[in-house]
Amino acid sequence: MALIVQKFGGSSVGDATKIKHVAKRVIETQKAGNQVVVVVSAMGDTTDELMDLANQVTDNPSPRELDMLLTAGERISMALLALAINAAGAQSRSFTGSQAGIVTDSKHGNARIAEVTPDRIREALDEGDIAIVAGFQGFNRETRDITTLGRGGSDTTAVALAAALNADVCEIYSDVDGVYTADPRQIPAARKLDYIDVESMLELAAAGAKILHIRAVEFARRHNVDLRVRSTFSTDPGTRVISGKTGGENMEESVVSGVATDKSQTKIIVVGIPDLPGKAAEVFNVVAEAGANIDMIVQNTATGVDVDDKVSDISFTLPKGDSAKVVGALEANQPTLGYRELEVDHEIGKISVVGAGMRTHSGVSATLFNALAKAGINIEMISTSEIRISVVTDITEADAAARAIHTAFGLDSDIEAVVYAGTGR
Ligand code: ASP
Ligand code: MG
Repeated sequence: MALIVQKFGGSSVGDATKIKHVAKRVIETQKAGNQVVVVVSAMGDTTDELMDLANQVTDNPSPRELDMLLTAGERISMALLALAINAAGAQSRSFTGSQAGIVTDSKHGNARIAEVTPDRIREALDEGDIAIVAGFQGFNRETRDITTLGRGGSDTTAVALAAALNADVCEIYSDVDGVYTADPRQIPAARKLDYIDVESMLELAAAGAKILHIRAVEFARRHNVDLRVRSTFSTDPGTRVISGKTGGENMEESVVSGVATDKSQTKIIVVGIPDLPGKAAEVFNVVAEAGANIDMIVQNTATGVDVDDKVSDISFTLPKGDSAKVVGALEANQPTLGYRELEVDHEIGKISVVGAGMRTHSGVSATLFNALAKAGINIEMISTSEIRISVVTDITEADAAARAIHTAFGLDSDIEAVVYAGTGR
């Protein structure tokens, strides 16, 4: 008998009809002779709506109460799914994250899983039940408080449970048929991938692809979980995320696996900072103390005649939500940092092209820059890793840039991708 963990995203459990559909699929999986653990997200846009409500009652919601509030979303869907499964004649039981043994650190809003002790899930499975688990949540032993794993965190719950239960496979169900060469909502010519190597999947997730939570991919890699992305609304086998240990030993790496777009960042330029040893350290100490995670960093070659008054510009990007506190901190430290001014641009898009085969193929950057030149799109920043090239453009040109790059790398498909549900919110 195989043990399968299936995770259903918000758009898959968006209303009563969809919940009944999921119930049917889960029961079929069990009837095929498997033990089944199901992880659910909150229904539709519930998490966003709860967040909006919190922001209506206060400008500054406390992280503890916010976690209490948001975890309610997943509790609604877990109980409704259990009710639907039981009504359809099978047996199931739902569990909160704490009941399922998801132990985390104490960082509200973005907790990390420290340990998984799924005794109650095992018991339920041994008794022939389908176990339903609320995604995105856990608890901390010291504070005895409920935590959440960060937006999109239900994927991580599913992979962590799959690892702890030594499951045969972890299936992430959403509203598209798998991992695509780009977000099919943005680029309808995107092509579904049958396989993607785990390194490329990590880079794509880090670059803003929302199909999988990055920490879920990290977890899967570390624990060799056989991870698949599928659609709730079709029988397509989906995409397998593979590493050497999960069946990818003979796979040839693609030069380019996909293109991801991220419109959630802000660019800050520290203009005219003295060109002296230690200045970059000072800037990023201030940024780190403000508690922001920065992404791209570019420092211009210094300009100026005398060694003494040479200055350069340091630019970096960070999540929009972190920009206010970082700007505040940099302004407060202007006298010691000694820069001339700050430029802040919220209207940027970051487009990344990712592929493990880049390590061994040349010409990838030339193809990318030619595509943007031909489309008349100006590049504001560039950064690269071994298997990724990212550019920043004006936000209004980001979609056109992504399309041009997608076409230039021969990723376009003749058939239009199907998006079955969801607002992509
Ligand atoms: N409901 C949470 C969110 O919308 C967690 C998840 O969907 O994975 O971010
Ligand atoms: Mg969601």
